[in-house]
Amino acid sequence: MIVIKTRSELEKMRRSGMLVHDILKALGDMATEGVSTWDLEVAAVKMMQDAGAKPAFKGYFVPAAGERFKYVLCTSVNEEIVHGMPNPRRILKKGDIVSIDTGVSLDGYYGDSAITVGIGQLSEQAKKLLQVTRESLELAIDKVREGNRLFDICGAVEEHVVKNGFSIVREYVGHGIGTQLHEEPQVPNYVDRRNENPRLREGMVLAIEPMVNAGRPEAKMLKDKWTAVAKDGSYSAHFEHCVAVTKNGPWVLTRQ
Ligand code: MG
Ligand code: MG
Repeated sequence: MIVIKTRSELEKMRRSGMLVHDILKALGDMATEGVSTWDLEVAAVKMMQDAGAKPAFKGYFVPAAGERFKYVLCTSVNEEIVHGMPNPRRILKKGDIVSIDTGVSLDGYYGDSAITVGIGQLSEQAKKLLQVTRESLELAIDKVREGNRLFDICGAVEEHVVKNGFSIVREYVGHGIGTQLHEEPQVPNYVDRRNENPRLREGMVLAIEPMVNAGRPEAKMLKDKWTAVAKDGSYSAHFEHCVAVTKNGPWVLTRQ
């Protein structure tokens, strides 16, 4: 069942969304050559504590991993797609791309967003990968309108990515969000006709998160049971926003 949010619930989600925005803005500025992914984690923990927010990822149980996640951020560098773990030994260097994904809960309502940041001068391919992934999210956001259907969102990402010669990761998908971090429906970045194609209604909130590989689409799991990487070692990019369906069109809760 897709949970419909009232206006006052959307206002609460806006508060958590804006905190996630502020955190990612700060971390995006901080992510430069010589900084470790652990430094980013420490800064995020502080910002969440100062705001009185509960981290959404730390403590989150994933059956396939058989344990709870230990960090407030997922930091996924280069060929890592999602769910990379902050690590003091992972020092960012020129030419890297790092996906920073985080979520919080404030007053019982979740926000979830991700950015991918380039460190120093990037290769032409990496630059294009970031641009196309960002654009695919914008095209999808524009479909978050009453009367449209879920596949309009999925298809917008898929079409743009494929047209530009990149690949959609299929193993990981976006999701509904509200009083739970992950709610129905699943929001794949491609049209999956095995799934239902619900009509979008006012008060639905979707976390749309294209994960795009520069090479082949296949993902594989590292031995740490969390980090998903592109099987062929190609770079992978990831952007995410939470978007509410309103009478006035898409309301991106995780940006200004
Ligand atoms: Mg998400
Ligand atoms: Mg996320």
